[in-house]
Amino acid sequence: MTIFNLGSINWDHCYQVPHFVRPGETLNAQNYTLNLGGKGANQSVAASKAGASVKHIGAVAQGDTASLMLNELGIDISGIEQQPGHVTGHAIIQIDSHAENAIVLHAGANRLLNWPWVQEQLSKGGPGDWLLMQNETNLLEQSARFARERGMRVAFNPAPMDKSVTLRLLPELDLLIVNQVELQDLSEQTELELAIEKIQRQCSVDLLITLGSQGALYVSASERNQVKAFSVKATDTTAAGDTFIGYFLASRCVSDSISIALQQASAAAALCVTQAGAIASIPDAQQVKNFLE
Ligand code: ADP
Repeated sequence: MTIFNLGSINWDHCYQVPHFVRPGETLNAQNYTLNLGGKGANQSVAASKAGASVKHIGAVAQGDTASLMLNELGIDISGIEQQPGHVTGHAIIQIDSHAENAIVLHAGANRLLNWPWVQEQLSKGGPGDWLLMQNETNLLEQSARFARERGMRVAFNPAPMDKSVTLRLLPELDLLIVNQVELQDLSEQTELELAIEKIQRQCSVDLLITLGSQGALYVSASERNQVKAFSVKATDTTAAGDTFIGYFLASRCVSDSISIALQQASAAAALCVTQAGAIASIPDAQQVKNFLE
């Protein structure tokens, strides 16, 4: 079984600054780091580190080395198109002395995926495989419909949340994965149970809700499973959700057990929050195994 992840690939340019740049100001950065990121790439890396077969579908600028980095992490990159004349998605991130950030994001090639390319990649999928998507690329509806026609299961993490996109996609999904804020935005309900009820009334999608340090909850028509977060010293929660999603789906590829998948995902995400960074903080399967022993 393979996870086909239709997802973003970004370069994160991170600048340490004394304060956010003001209109008309030119500011010298005190430090600079360049990191591979994007929700799509993060989730592919997490699923691959968990041991799943992962095929990433996406796009970068011609000659960009991002796909080679993903390949080194075990991901099948044959579905990543190199687009001449376009730029790879990227974020300009200022981090000030209070560790607050201000971000300019440019989707670039991530939102310029073309259907013949994506369709050709998805044609390699079939029953038992998953299509995973986030809201950082185009072609979500077409891809979900096509994958379903092929017997694939479809999971969607609507981040960053766009309510109308998500509501349109709901009938095409097997699994919707949201954090608390996304659930509230989508359902317009602040109370968890009312929010779940409202979405379940709209369609029969399974719901995986991550609740930060409170753990996570899985609700389907036939079962309800909850996992507590592991107690760890959290230093940086970047990519915690992405790690959770990658590990959860990787586990679903080899087992039908929701409780095993929740346990694996929760342990991986707990390890992730103890480390700084995004991709750098995603643990591998051996680290998760050691943590759970
Ligand atoms: P997102 O990063 O998408 O906002 P959450 O904040 O819900 O997602 O976190 C995703 C998962 O990461 C949680 O379900 C939990 O398993 C884990 N997690 C997040 N914060 C902590 C924490 N402080 N301690 C342990 N685990 C955490």
